[in-house]
Amino acid sequence: MKKFSTLLLLGLVSLNLSAQKMSKDKKAVVASVEKHKENLIQISDSIWALAETAFEESISSELLADYAEKNGMTVTRGVADIPTAFVATYGSGKPVISVLGEFDALPGLSQNTVPTKDPRIDGAPGHGCGHNMFGAASLGAAIAIKEQIEAGNIKGTVKFFGTPAEEKFFGKVWMVEAGLWDDVDVNVSWHPSAEIEADVQSGLALVDFMIEFYGQAAHASSDPWNGRSASDALELYTTGINYYREHIKPTSRIHYHIQDGGQVVNVVPDYARLWVRVRDPKRDVMLPTFERVKAMAEGAAIMANVDYKYSLISGIYETLVNREGGKIMQNNLELLGPITYTDEEITYGKAIQEATGKPQVGMDGEVHPLKETEELPGGGSTDVGDVSWNVPNINLGVTVAPKGTPWHSWAVVACGGMSIGHKGMIYASKAMGMTMFDLFDDPKLVEKVKEEFKTRKGDVKYEAMIDGPPPIPGK
Ligand SMILES: [Zn+2]
Repeated sequence: MKKFSTLLLLGLVSLNLSAQKMSKDKKAVVASVEKHKENLIQISDSIWALAETAFEESISSELLADYAEKNGMTVTRGVADIPTAFVATYGSGKPVISVLGEFDALPGLSQNTVPTKDPRIDGAPGHGCGHNMFGAASLGAAIAIKEQIEAGNIKGTVKFFGTPAEEKFFGKVWMVEAGLWDDVDVNVSWHPSAEIEADVQSGLALVDFMIEFYGQAAHASSDPWNGRSASDALELYTTGINYYREHIKPTSRIHYHIQDGGQVVNVVPDYARLWVRVRDPKRDVMLPTFERVKAMAEGAAIMANVDYKYSLISGIYETLVNREGGKIMQNNLELLGPITYTDEEITYGKAIQEATGKPQVGMDGEVHPLKETEELPGGGSTDVGDVSWNVPNINLGVTVAPKGTPWHSWAVVACGGMSIGHKGMIYASKAMGMTMFDLFDDPKLVEKVKEEFKTRKGDVKYEAMIDGPPPIPGK
């Protein structure tokens, strides 16, 4: 009988949990985001149309910083020697909870808000990773928290980090080096996605570098014996890399982009350049592979009898997952429930799927259970990784595009400037605001998140994989 009543009680508790209601405080966070909704959408759409790329996001950065300032946050611009990086702060004392906002676009992805490929401006950049929504949603969450501190519902400090150049140079690495997260207890972030999830998966560590070969120009036919070809070295180098692929870990990736292989056919090229990237889910595995790929440049230079130069561009860590933080986020996603779409939006989504050869199933706006953390994830890389080794990080993904949409493509741009993107962005703003509220409201949650961070980090000493100042164009 006792057993039965315990079971009955447990049943009632779980019933109660699944049907839990949003608290008055959380409703206030949601109401705050709702209040700023139209302005946040306007900022996101402006950044979408501007589509400024790495370290050149001057107006995009200004739009976000100005709105933070207008709403009573203290803004410090040009942090970490990056003109477009900034910090907006409100409040005082502990805890210090921060949120990340990206806003850089990708070259060549310009697109109108139509469900078939149709550039707004031929060859111009576009927001193929949805960073226009990223920045605006995170700022909405920061302002919602600012308003809760102001109302006396919570105490502490909220920070919004305007983080440029995620796509090309990994700008956060210089911001981490500048110690900007040193006083932060927990950081929150999100990324536009094709599903809603409290994100507990890591990304891939990577290193980026440039190899340049210097030879001797000569007439390609009348006196080629006077020439030493930089492009021969480049070809030998990429051949070496491609042979080496057979012997790397299946989880590793090597990419290269030939940037200069000579100009004309009748000159032995005296200069060649390629950009190389090595990745793996584990930095420890990536580093020896990187050393090998780097060393091969010398071999190629010897074979072609040319000189070579190696320059490190940047490197990033894999993301340190935080499942305790993921659980807090998951709880808030369940409180918010699914995103619903109009018939027009579903038709738009299906048209994109038709155009990109994907099953025409529309958007996935459901909240799924918290996933297991994969030991060796595939996918991309992010400089949020470097933040996550310095401060516990809670991550979120929210649907802004139809299921199966190719990322870094026109299709993401097509959604990021209309209602499908807007809905995801406002949803992300609420989910992050609610999660940040929990962290302010309950010091025990902060402790749990920090505890897991310490355990996962272990005795790894973080050292940024950069060399010198940020590569600001024109500087
Ligand atoms: Zn991105």
